Amino acid sequence: MKQNKSALITGASRGIGRAVALELASRGYDIIINFLTNKKLAEDLCQYIKSNFKVRAITLCANVGVESDVKEMIDEAVKEFGRIDVLVNNAGIQSLEPFADKTVDKIEKTFNVNFIGPYLVTKYTAPIMLKNKYGKIINISSNDVYKGCSSDIFDYDASKASLSIFTRAMAEEFAPFINVNTISPGWIKTDMLNDLPKEFLESEAQHIYKRRIGTPEDVAKLAAFLVSDDAEYIDGENIIIDGGME
Ligand code: NAD
Repeated sequence: MKQNKSALITGASRGIGRAVALELASRGYDIIINFLTNKKLAEDLCQYIKSNFKVRAITLCANVGVESDVKEMIDEAVKEFGRIDVLVNNAGIQSLEPFADKTVDKIEKTFNVNFIGPYLVTKYTAPIMLKNKYGKIINISSNDVYKGCSSDIFDYDASKASLSIFTRAMAEEFAPFINVNTISPGWIKTDMLNDLPKEFLESEAQHIYKRRIGTPEDVAKLAAFLVSDDAEYIDGENIIIDGGME
């Protein structure tokens, strides 16, 4: 029997990660749902995927910024599915606050999740992909890196900029077997934006060519394309998906 490809998505219980998990499941991938705190949401998603698509799915709790957690998660994923074909480094945290309130601890936390996390998950996943001479890695960055940033979020933007550099370095490191690309979303309607006033987002939408805030599904469709055979020749690249912003 032909085995499905399998995809590990970090921070997949909600938002963009959840949409990517659903999109890949709909395309026949077995799904590894990583979560940190949202156990119930992760298990509901897992159940939904198993009931609605002819694929397998599991949930694995791990803090992507903790090496022992990541190692255990990858060991468990391999035990279950025997392989990992796709990795989407999606888990991330935002850090919106005035510059004066930033501290070294807070900045280190942001970098730990947004940069060290993808590094660790890649470190333990890539050898499995290399064994199969096949793999696709996507790092979720932000269009802030390319289209502006502000002092109240500079640490988040810096962590995402580092991730974009990491993408290019890993594409070279794992060539020619693993495609490594970055997706840099603009405003996407998820819980991450909950602290922003509705009016602010409505006014932001007016500066977007498509005149709307993006959806997790917009990003998920791009991720699915990038891991597909049709995108075989795209490697080490960054794709901005923001509906068109200046
Ligand atoms: P979200 O807050 O809904 O999702 C982030 C997920 O990451 C959550 O499920 C959270 O529990 C998980 N997570 C956080 N820390 C973790 C850790 N240490 N280990 C494991 N999981 C952890 O927000 P989202 O908008 O879906 O964000 C997904 C990604 O997209 C993030 O990397 C974010 O920076 C990026 N992004 C989002 C936007 C946006 O406008 N929403 C724009 C650009 C980039």
